[in-house]
Amino acid sequence: MHITELPTPALLLELETLTRNLKRMQTKLHSLGTSLRPHIKTHKCVEVAKRQRDLGAQGITVSTYYEAEQFAASGFNDITWAFPLPPVYADRCVELAKKVTLRVVVDSVEATAVLKDACAKHGTQIHVWLKIDCGYHRAGVDPSSPQAENLVRLLSESDALRFDGILSHSGHAYHGTTRQDIVAVANQERTVMVEFAERMRKKGYPVPSISIGSTPSMSVIETLDGISEARPGNYCFYDRTMVELGVCKPSDCAVTVLASVISHQPGASHFVIDAGALALSKDQGPAVAGKEVAMGVVLNGYDTRSYDHTVTVRTLSQEHGKVTADQPSDLEGKYRVGDRIRILENHSCLTVAHFDAYNVVQGENVIDRWQILRGRA
Ligand code: PLP
Repeated sequence: MHITELPTPALLLELETLTRNLKRMQTKLHSLGTSLRPHIKTHKCVEVAKRQRDLGAQGITVSTYYEAEQFAASGFNDITWAFPLPPVYADRCVELAKKVTLRVVVDSVEATAVLKDACAKHGTQIHVWLKIDCGYHRAGVDPSSPQAENLVRLLSESDALRFDGILSHSGHAYHGTTRQDIVAVANQERTVMVEFAERMRKKGYPVPSISIGSTPSMSVIETLDGISEARPGNYCFYDRTMVELGVCKPSDCAVTVLASVISHQPGASHFVIDAGALALSKDQGPAVAGKEVAMGVVLNGYDTRSYDHTVTVRTLSQEHGKVTADQPSDLEGKYRVGDRIRILENHSCLTVAHFDAYNVVQGENVIDRWQILRGRA
């Protein structure tokens, strides 16, 4: 099928770009002596995860119990749910851990206790990571606090819990405005984690592994000494945010949204497309780092990743997207109703989660359709 025959809005995935991205990260981490446990929350797609595994990825990372369940059913048998365990899922996790190696994450005494009870109830064990706050200040225990050592002790002394080690996420790399900012965050994460592990080991606690990472930090880091595995996710597709952060080029972006122009009034300095918030998501992307607010960028034609700087995806309502220009003359003879445009989204992880399937493309041909597993348990 040719791309122009697709109903819109449609999610396009360029196979060649995806393959290049997967290989690049795998090669990089391998050369730094660290294994890759890709976060599949970005793609939620068995076909992409299989490609990651074929290239050498060791296990997968998921963000929801639903993803864990779905990927376990699709033959993935080493899964980290990198999310502070919601106690209500303890029983289900312990059950799933009987079928596959499921690794859960805690950062509290409360969740640890609930998990231990669930193991006792089901007569089994489960792998557990301790989440450390490496400077992002979202979840995770402060490594300098007494609570951190207390949790290491509780986890390593438990018979029911198999302590895997410590895990962090350098999400604050997204707040950087320059490549140097991201390098600083990446090095901070590695240092905080290695130093904490060393301190605990000196006190006699085994810390078997250290798991870190985000796409920006793993894209710029040059040494991973002391780190067992990294968990980037977004690197498979990248997006406008990553381009603006200087982490990749527009030509590295593997996912775009195909939309149709549905309204363009004579003399107007805007037109409307059929990709709104439920296609592109309301993620403001680079705006959080002080850049101009735009809900995505319009690309010049199907075969180019160059931006059309005369227009901006300005606002999104549920299904409408409003694209504006400085003046009506900028739009003259362009963007007529029925025209199709390709948009590079701000945040591929959130955009993908609004679609049921990828249209896998090679050039302008749709060569396959891959399902996106985006449900809830
Ligand atoms: N690990 C955790 C805990 C995360 O929350 C995320 C993303 O949010 C990742 C890893 C992957 O990071 P990225 O999306 O930058 O690749």
